Amino acid sequence: MPFTAELTYRTLGPLFYQTVAPTPVAAPDWLLFNDALATLLQWPEDARQTPLGLQYFCGNQLAPWMQPTALAYTGHQFGSLAPRLGDGRALLLTEVLSLSGKRFDVQLKGAGPTPFSRRGDGRAALGPVLREYLISEWMAAVGVRTSRALAAVTTGETIYRDTRVPGAVLTRVAASHIRIGTFQYASVHGSSADVKALADYVITRHYPEIRDDAQPYLALLRAVATAQADLIAHWMSLGFVHGVMNTDNMTVSGETIDYGPCAFIDAFDPSACFSSIDSQGRYAYRNQPPIAQWNLARLAESLLVLLHEDEQQAIAAAMTVLNDFPALYQAARLNRFAAKLGLPSPVESDLPLIDDLLTLLSQQQIDFTLFFRELSRPANIPGALASSLFAEPAAFSAWQQRWLQRLAAVALDPVALSQQLLQVNPAFIPRNFRIEQIIESALNGDLGPAKALAKASLTPFDDDVYWAELPPASFCNYQTFCGT
Ligand code: AMP
Ligand code: MG
Ligand code: MG
Repeated sequence: MPFTAELTYRTLGPLFYQTVAPTPVAAPDWLLFNDALATLLQWPEDARQTPLGLQYFCGNQLAPWMQPTALAYTGHQFGSLAPRLGDGRALLLTEVLSLSGKRFDVQLKGAGPTPFSRRGDGRAALGPVLREYLISEWMAAVGVRTSRALAAVTTGETIYRDTRVPGAVLTRVAASHIRIGTFQYASVHGSSADVKALADYVITRHYPEIRDDAQPYLALLRAVATAQADLIAHWMSLGFVHGVMNTDNMTVSGETIDYGPCAFIDAFDPSACFSSIDSQGRYAYRNQPPIAQWNLARLAESLLVLLHEDEQQAIAAAMTVLNDFPALYQAARLNRFAAKLGLPSPVESDLPLIDDLLTLLSQQQIDFTLFFRELSRPANIPGALASSLFAEPAAFSAWQQRWLQRLAAVALDPVALSQQLLQVNPAFIPRNFRIEQIIESALNGDLGPAKALAKASLTPFDDDVYWAELPPASFCNYQTFCGT
């Protein structure tokens, strides 16, 4: 299939976007480029890590097939409605078809101000651009549905955050950038025909299998709820805290986007919350499932006009899906955590085994990633190596006996079990302290560590002593920052 680039999103009409050219930058230079993704997207050879590619990825030049577009969206930020958010620093350039015929958005983040910028400068800083690039690519490699990173470049310009920092532009790739907030925007600022046009577009693009459903818009709500349930369960199974689950940051495709204040849990703590502005812990690790449900209720509200002409009946229909969310999530969670423990055909009665383990990890402050990796290693008695992580191993031994009994019921041999688990429980995560070191090095002109993590992240299930290392004891009370 030849390279094709067209922006089908614009068929939704001008309510949904603004045409905005990127603002040129002074002196662009490369940070990182993702060759494998470029190949997957059939990205033109002459626009990869080439002088022309650099001009495109910093926004200094546009190809004839690019139509720079700032998307309009609304959002509930920390529970309060902001009716007009929109892309304040991002510009959709085009949509391309991958080798397998899948459609992807290609977007610049940090390309200059738009009519949606409000008080922002439209720019992105080097540190957050590297964070998003590296963490999203690691997430993609372990199989989490996520936006990806095609390129990161510096601008040669200084921007102001708390201090002066180098500017950068990230080129982000996603199944689409349509958010729950996009539906809210159509609902708040448009007519029911606009909401319908958006819903039809999303069904065609993301959920074609429900096109002929008797109630396609209710089926859409259910499809998004199912995708979100699985996504959040996947995050939870990796100790990932997104950090800013506002409705404008939750895609209807079920992909992770907006890596601003995200972080991974080291020593397990269900109340972990890293974002400097989230003083109430709204988006803490353990709150992610109920927040996803709260966000889906906002999507449901936006869809009500399409569900039934009688509002009470529309609400009743939406409630059937929203009320199912906890069960959808629990099923997804059971599958994810059962896979981490090698439990085939998981059943609800496996939940106490999972929950008691997580309580144990939290009580003894065991590193989440290291625990599951040690549990996966080959041993005559499965789990023998993980035991050494516990200050009080007796509690773990009791749990281990229950686990072994459950495994014995399915007669899985230890070698096969280990082989299986080593492909589920990653060898390392992009540790918060390593990300900070990488950014520090990059600020000092050394991209070696960033490139090393990008390379290691291609094989996140292969042991790697350096990247698996735990943070030093001095690294605690980690804080992340939004919108930087
Ligand atoms: P976020 O918290 O990253 O999802 O961003 C919330 C809103 O702020 C979105 O509308 C962004 O486009 C906008 N925004 C974030 N940073 C900037 C910036 N530096 N300049 C302009 N708009 C921004
Ligand atoms: Mg956002
Ligand atoms: Mg952000």
